[in-house]
Amino acid sequence: MKKEKIILTGDRPTGRLHIGHYVGSLKGRVELQNAGDYSKMFVFIADSQALTDNIDNPEKVRQNVIEVALDYLACGLDPEKATIFIQSQIPELCELTFYYMDLVSVSRLQRNPTVKTEIQMRNFEASIPVGFFTYPISQAADITAFRATTVPVGEDQEPMLEQAREIVRRFNHIYGETLVEPEILLPQNAACLRLPGTDGKAKMSKSLGNCIYLSDTADEIQKKVMSMYTDPGHIRVQDPGKIEGNTVFTYLDAFSRPEHFERYLPDYPNLAELKAHYQRGGLGDVKVKRFLNAIMQETLEPIRNRRKEFEKDIPGIYEMLRKGCEVARAAAADTLSDVKKAMKINYFDDKELIEEQARRFAANQ
Ligand code: ATP
Ligand code: MG
Repeated sequence: MKKEKIILTGDRPTGRLHIGHYVGSLKGRVELQNAGDYSKMFVFIADSQALTDNIDNPEKVRQNVIEVALDYLACGLDPEKATIFIQSQIPELCELTFYYMDLVSVSRLQRNPTVKTEIQMRNFEASIPVGFFTYPISQAADITAFRATTVPVGEDQEPMLEQAREIVRRFNHIYGETLVEPEILLPQNAACLRLPGTDGKAKMSKSLGNCIYLSDTADEIQKKVMSMYTDPGHIRVQDPGKIEGNTVFTYLDAFSRPEHFERYLPDYPNLAELKAHYQRGGLGDVKVKRFLNAIMQETLEPIRNRRKEFEKDIPGIYEMLRKGCEVARAAAADTLSDVKKAMKINYFDDKELIEEQARRFAANQ
């Protein structure tokens, strides 16, 4: 029998979604959704996880739930095809997390490279909230609760997937085959694995303020593109320029397609030629940035316009999320029931146990 394909991903409501989310995960999800090559698809807004490092500002998380939902719909996620829900509304996830905590050691969590970087970024070295430290475990609960086989995410999520797989193997080893081992689905284009920020920092991230948001206005996009980090050594147009670590070229790797050259830069047949000219010298940053701006405007305009349409019915979006939560809760409850059965903590359904105990005590009468 062909294994069922169940897709799951989520985003933290710590801000509106940006083009890093788009190329790293969101675009792939919409393509998977439209290809229809799956049996179920779950997409969730990870508000509980967002609270783990935003406890000084829970209102930010609350405000951004709807922003993320709007970004989803604007990008083409379709509630008819994907269950869209809010993490905190599924209490079963907390229960699973609690049991999984017994399967992971503190030192294992400390080795997680993404969490290490995030701890530094948030100045948590002196005092890490326990919830934040253990979020990879709660993420394993999110994934396994829906029996996800496929998790389309950016490269920073690789250690989380590995942690989830370890938990699944350990659980199944102790309690018998119950949980499904998930696989990561990374973007195929290397530039999309971890899109850098407009400031050239390693990752575009809501928390770093170096983002182009999917909902930015045309003006904001242009300003951000025109002031982007390039090659600091490329001062005069005639100077040879570097491509490596040059954010503008990384974005072109991620976003440009052959037809963009035909439309906006017909002097160059393709990206390789543009790069070669930049490296030789004689090509100015402004020209390359103008080209990138044209591509970004073309890519983001339809998303922004669709978002505006969805913004007209906000109560309708909360209603869509409420229904999604209902469907998601039923699915998670089903897995939790299997988990409790496997762990033999389903005492009241376990007739054998009750009879066995009755016999044991009767023998001592
Ligand atoms: P925060 O700073 O609050 O952690 P974030 O910008 O890192 O926010 P997340 O909600 O943590 O965003 O990530 C959601 C999804 O988007 C994940 O699958 C992650 O891998 C992907 N993603 C986030 N940033 C990027 C990026 N710069 N490039 C590629 N994928 C990304
Ligand atoms: Mg993140």
